Amino acid sequence: MTSSKDLIQQARATTDDVPIIPRKGLVVVTCMDTRIDPLAMYNARVGDVHVIRNAGGLVNGDVLRGLLISQVRANTTAIDLVMHTDCAVQGLEDREMRSKLGSQSLEFGGFDDLEATLRSGVASLRAAELLPHRDRITGYIFEVETRRLRRVTE
Ligand SMILES: [Zn+2]
Repeated sequence: MTSSKDLIQQARATTDDVPIIPRKGLVVVTCMDTRIDPLAMYNARVGDVHVIRNAGGLVNGDVLRGLLISQVRANTTAIDLVMHTDCAVQGLEDREMRSKLGSQSLEFGGFDDLEATLRSGVASLRAAELLPHRDRITGYIFEVETRRLRRVTE
């Protein structure tokens, strides 16, 4: 039987040769959804890409902060924004969430049109002048039903 100590040592061994600079120079911004496995989606392994996740895969200030650090400190040059079908944030109502939580001040970023929201996120990143590299920003929809990535933007 394998002990937890053995497992921890194995995990340490597998990260020993992992570079801090992503091998593929890519950052994937995507949703926290359990059905999304970014490494499997790209046939990648630990060390290949940076992954930034939040509810919805929405572009916000913290995503931009991560992208700036990734490009400036870890030499990444490409960004894939990946939203997905059947997302829990799609159709989410701030009013409903506020009522359930008893708070009037929070915003949850619920959206209706998946493709329009993705295009808008890509456009806002392409317009973010602080980002050193903005010429390889692409929007994809991950179709959870087929487990395929569909490119939406140029
Ligand atoms: Zn989602």
